[in-house]
Amino acid sequence: MAKSTKTGKYVYFFGNKKADGNGSMKALLGGKGANLAEMTRIGLPVPPGFTITTEVCTHYYANRKTYPAALWDQVKKSVAAMETILGKRFGDNEKPLLVAVRSGARDSMPGMMDTILNLGLNDQTVVALEKLSGNARFAWDCYRRFIQMYGDVVMGVQKAPSEDHDPFEVVIDTLKEQLFKGEKHVEDTRLDAKQMQELVKRFKALIKERTGKEFPTDPWKQLEGAVGAVFSSWMNDRAIVYRRKYNIPTEWGTAVNVQSMVFGNTGNASGSGVAFTRDPATGEKVFYGEFLINAQGEDVVAGVRTPKPVAELAKVMPDAFKELERIRGVLESHFRDVQDFEFTIEEGKVFMLQTRNGKRTGLAAVRFAVEMEKEKLISWEEAILRVPAEQLDQVLAPVFDRGAIKAAKSIAKGLPAGPGAATGKIYFNADRAVEGARKGEKVLLVRVETSPEDLRGMIAAEGILTARGGVSSHAALVARQMGKVCVCGASALHVDYAARTLSVGDTHLKEGDFLSIDGTSGDVYVGELKTAPSEVIQVLINKSLDGKDSRTYQNYAALMKWCAKATRMDVRTNADSPEQAANAVGFGAVGIGLCRTEHMFFEGNRIDSMREMILAENIDDRKKALAKLLPYQREDFIGIFKELKGLPATIRFLDPPLHEFLPHQGSEQEDLAKKLGIDAKKIAQRVHDLHEFNPMLGHRGCRLGIVYPEISEMQARAVFEAAAAVQAKGIKVKPEIMIPLVGFPKELQLQIEVVNRVAAEVAKEKKTKFNYLVGTMIEIPRAALVAHEIAKDAQFFSFGTNDLTQTCLGMSRDDSGSFLPKYQELEIVKQNPFATIDQAGVGKLMQIAVELGRKTRPDIKLGICGEHGGEPSSVKFCHRIGLAYVSCSPFRVPIARLAAAQAALEEKKGKKK
Ligand code: PEP
Ligand code: MG
Repeated sequence: MAKSTKTGKYVYFFGNKKADGNGSMKALLGGKGANLAEMTRIGLPVPPGFTITTEVCTHYYANRKTYPAALWDQVKKSVAAMETILGKRFGDNEKPLLVAVRSGARDSMPGMMDTILNLGLNDQTVVALEKLSGNARFAWDCYRRFIQMYGDVVMGVQKAPSEDHDPFEVVIDTLKEQLFKGEKHVEDTRLDAKQMQELVKRFKALIKERTGKEFPTDPWKQLEGAVGAVFSSWMNDRAIVYRRKYNIPTEWGTAVNVQSMVFGNTGNASGSGVAFTRDPATGEKVFYGEFLINAQGEDVVAGVRTPKPVAELAKVMPDAFKELERIRGVLESHFRDVQDFEFTIEEGKVFMLQTRNGKRTGLAAVRFAVEMEKEKLISWEEAILRVPAEQLDQVLAPVFDRGAIKAAKSIAKGLPAGPGAATGKIYFNADRAVEGARKGEKVLLVRVETSPEDLRGMIAAEGILTARGGVSSHAALVARQMGKVCVCGASALHVDYAARTLSVGDTHLKEGDFLSIDGTSGDVYVGELKTAPSEVIQVLINKSLDGKDSRTYQNYAALMKWCAKATRMDVRTNADSPEQAANAVGFGAVGIGLCRTEHMFFEGNRIDSMREMILAENIDDRKKALAKLLPYQREDFIGIFKELKGLPATIRFLDPPLHEFLPHQGSEQEDLAKKLGIDAKKIAQRVHDLHEFNPMLGHRGCRLGIVYPEISEMQARAVFEAAAAVQAKGIKVKPEIMIPLVGFPKELQLQIEVVNRVAAEVAKEKKTKFNYLVGTMIEIPRAALVAHEIAKDAQFFSFGTNDLTQTCLGMSRDDSGSFLPKYQELEIVKQNPFATIDQAGVGKLMQIAVELGRKTRPDIKLGICGEHGGEPSSVKFCHRIGLAYVSCSPFRVPIARLAAAQAALEEKKGKKK
C-alpha cells in the first residue's frame, strides 16, 4: 500500500496557496484532487477544500462499506481550516460555509457520478444565505438545487424504469405549467424566490413520499451521506461499464473532493464556464470555450440553456475575461499541455474548479505538439510522445463535413477497418462497380464479404462495406493498403445479391442508391454526405496542393522529421503496385516489406492466363500458361523497382489456394470455357477437385511451389528479369524473395534451390549480377519453434502475424467475427488479436523465433508484415523484441513511424529511470 495508509493520512487539504498534495499524486488524490492541489500551489484562485484519498475508497470496499477510524477527525480538521480561511462556519446560522462534493478518479470518468453542490443548506442556513447575499431568489435556488441533487444521488430518488422523466423535473414542470399555462420551454430563470421556495417544499415532499425519510438537516449528516454516495458510485453500473471500456482497474478507486462553494448564480455579475486553453478540434491557439451568465457549472454542461462562446465574455465582463486570459497562460506554462478547465465567476471574481489535459482530435494533437515545441514549452521528443499514434489516422483521412454528419442518420455499425469518410452509389458486384466508376460515379462496393475477385471493384470504389469479416479480413487489409475507406462486419446489413437490395431494419436500398460510410467510427449512413480529402494527402500523394500553403501538412512534416531522428526501427510497406509503392515512399517508407504477388494476377485479362495455368492438365500446358503470365509480372516488378530507386522489396511468392482464382458460378464458367476453347464441364470438375474444406490450412503458401515448382520458377524469372532491366538503367535493385507458409526447413530449401538456379540463369543471360536475399515468412507455429533450423537457409524472417495469429489461436481470421465480440465483452481477449498482437501467445512465438533465429544467424534480418505492423501497440512490441522493421499498408506508414519513434523514446526513458 502507498504511504498514506502507513502515515494514516486520509485527507489532503488545499487552500490559501498551500496544499498537502500536488499534481503528481493522481493515484492517491485522483486527477481532479491532484490538480486542485497543484493549482492552489501555483497561486491560482482555487476555493479552499480537501481531498479524501482513493485509499479510503479501497478501505471502504474491503471493510463492508466502513471508513478508517481516523477519517472523520481529519475531515473535521480540514473543514475547520476552510472555516478559518473563509471566515464562515459549516452549519452556522449567520455565515454558513457551503461545500461542493465531487468524485475524482485517477483518469477522468465523465458522467460516472453527479456532483452535489450547495451542501450545508437547510431551513436555517438558507435564510442566512439570503441575508448575506441580499438575494432571496439566489438563496432558494441554491437550496432547491441541493435538495434535487442530494435527493437523486444520495437518497436515490431517480427515474423508475416505468417512468419517462426524472421525478424532480416532473415537479418543476408541473409548477411551471401551473404558473405559465401552455407556455413551452420556460427557463428556470423565470422562477422567482417564492416559487423556488415552493419547489423546496415540493421536493422535500417527493423525497418523503419516495423514501419514507425526511431530508437531512444536519450538515455533517449531509456530508457523510454525500461522501458515502461518491464511494458507492464507484461500483454503479455506469462506472463498471465505463471502466471495462477504457481498461481502468477497479482497484484504483475514486477520491472525493470537498470544496467550498463559489456561486455563479448570484446574478448578472456571475456565471460559470468550461474552457480549453487552445481549440481542441482544430488545434488553433485561441481561447476556446463557453459560459453562461448567472448559472452554476452544471447548467453549462446540461444543455438546458445554450451557453455563449467564451470570447463574448470580453464584452460582458472585461475584467473577468482578462483574468481568465492570464490564468490560461499560467496553466499552459505550468502544465505544459493544453488544459480543459472549469471556472466560476462570483460577483466578477474568477475561481478555478478543475483543470486537466484536454482531449483533442488528431489534427489538434499534431498542431498542439508542433506549436508547443516552437514555443519552447516542450522538447521535440515530448512532442513525439504527445500525439497518440492512432490519432494520425484522422490527419490523413478524408472527413465528413461536420454539418452533414449532424443531420445524417446512422443505420448500422460495423468494424472501423479503413479510416476516413466515403460516400457514393452502392454496387453489389465488382464489375458493376467498375462500370459505375467508369461512368464517373462515386461508388461504394457493398458485399456480404469480399474475395480477391472483388479487387477491381475495390479499386474503383471510394469505400468498401461488408456484412461479414473482421479487421484483418481480405476487404479490410486490401482497403487499408489502398487507403480506401472500409467498414466491415456490419452484421445488421442484409444484402440480397439477386434482388440487388440492401436492407437494415425498415430501411431498404437498391443498387445505385446513395450510402455513406465512416471508416473511423464504423457508422453507415443513408444518403450522400459531403467529404473532403486530408491536406496531407493533397500535398504528398495527389500533389494538388503546395505544402507551403497547408499548415496541417507543415505540422505533419515537422512531426515526421523528428520521428526519423528518434527511431531505431524502419518502416516498410505492404504494396503490390508501383502506385502503392510510390504512395508509401511519399509517406516515408524505406522499402516494401510485403508484395503479395497474387494481387498482380487480377488486373485486366491476366486472370485468364492464370486460370489457364490452373486448368492445365500437364506440366507443358502449365508452362505455356505461365509463359503468358511472365511478362505481366515482370512489368509490374519493373514498375515497382523503379519507384523504389534502390530501396529493398520483399516479394512473396504465390500464397492463396488456387480455387480462389477460378469462377464458381456456372455462367462464368461457361464464359471462360468459350474464351479458352475448352469444355465448361472440365472447369466445373477442376473447381470441384480444388475445393477444400479449410483452404486456409490447405494447398496454399509454399505448398503450391513445392507441388508446382514451375510456378515459383516463373515468379523468380519475372523478378530477376525485371531486376536486370532496371539495373541496366542505372537504378539499384534489392529484391528479397520471400517464401510463404514454411514450417519445415526442407520446404524452404527446395524453394531456395529454384530461386538461386533461376537467378544464376538470368544473371548469365543478361550478363549482370544480382544483390538479393531469400528468406521466409514465419507464420505458422512450427516455423517459430524450429527457427534455428530454418535460419540456416533463411537470410531473413518476416512475421506473418495474420496467419500466425489464426494458427496459434486456432481461430480463423475470416470467421472469428461471429464470436470475437463476445470474447472481448467477457474480456477473454482484451483486444481483437487480429488487430493487436496477442503478446502472451503469438508474441511469445515471435520472441522464440527471434531468439532461435539469431542463434543460428546473428545478423538475420527480422521484420513483420502482418496487419499488426501498422497498429501502434504492436509496433512498440516489435521494437521491444528487436525487429529491424515493421511493414504496413501505405496509408498507415505515418502511424507506424510515429509509434516506432515513440517506442525508441520510451525505451530511452525507461533506461534513464
Ligand atoms: C500474414 O499471414 O500475416 C501475411 C502477411 O500474409 P497474408 O495476410 O497474405 O496471408
Ligand atoms: Mg499469410
